[in-house]
Amino acid sequence: MANRTLEEVSKYVEWQSQNKCKVVSAKPEHEFNDLGVEVRVWNVKTDTEGAWWVVEGDSVPMNLYPQEAYYFSADEVYSFHMGLMDRMNASSEYKPEEFIEAITLGCDIAPQLFRKLKIIASSIDTAVEIEDFQAIGVQCREILIELGNSVYFEEMASDKEQPQASNFKKKAELFLQFCLDGSDNGDYRSIIKKVTEATWDYACKITHSSNSTFYEASTCVTLCTSLVGIYENIRQKVSDPIAQCKCRVCKSKKLKIINDDLGEDGYVKKLILKCEECGENTEIVFEEVVPPLE
Ligand SMILES: [Zn+2]
Repeated sequence: MANRTLEEVSKYVEWQSQNKCKVVSAKPEHEFNDLGVEVRVWNVKTDTEGAWWVVEGDSVPMNLYPQEAYYFSADEVYSFHMGLMDRMNASSEYKPEEFIEAITLGCDIAPQLFRKLKIIASSIDTAVEIEDFQAIGVQCREILIELGNSVYFEEMASDKEQPQASNFKKKAELFLQFCLDGSDNGDYRSIIKKVTEATWDYACKITHSSNSTFYEASTCVTLCTSLVGIYENIRQKVSDPIAQCKCRVCKSKKLKIINDDLGEDGYVKKLILKCEECGENTEIVFEEVVPPLE
């Protein structure tokens, strides 16, 4: 980009003042190139709006700063402007882990799953060719198989046949039946089962599709990431003994454990919860054993 002219800089300042002032003089005060880009700081004086520094240059957005109030020298305003641009660039940079944390609401994810999710979240950012999208489908499927292996334990099948090692749908189904049993969980269980099957089917479709675009592949990554978040939520729900509890008086869920009664085996038998809303205590006795609290 060529240097800005005196006329361009003047127009910019007048436009920024909503044409309330006229530029009476403007000259480049300093040129800098110590950061690898040519940047000029102009000293601009107006008739009614005081004096301004205007910073502009190659691939640097133009901006103006008042001279009297805060910025006393061209050098100072240059440092400030370049620091600001650097920070703006850094904050708009795509970070795969932030994408995962946003979709899963920052829930704890098993490290081997998080690592694989980070890889697909990075791949989608640079995917262009149909082969890139197919590869994303393959990786999504591998993540789901890993998810199945991570949540499933042999006891979940009880007397049924053990699923094959890579049978994600079956492992997920047994996990859901085991962790979300009972009619209270009926709707939750059924909707998650549908999302699970749809996500697996979609990943398989992307793997073989010869006309997917960025948008379908991106949907696949989003579905897969959110499904991992859903299963981690279920795992946490199961190991959270007070998630179901309410205050016996005011029904608030703002409860704090004030006493726990451990059996000889170290497992929780009884909890006393204090309601932060009304101050009443609620006692919870566990018929089934709950693992020791951390
Ligand atoms: Zn209460």
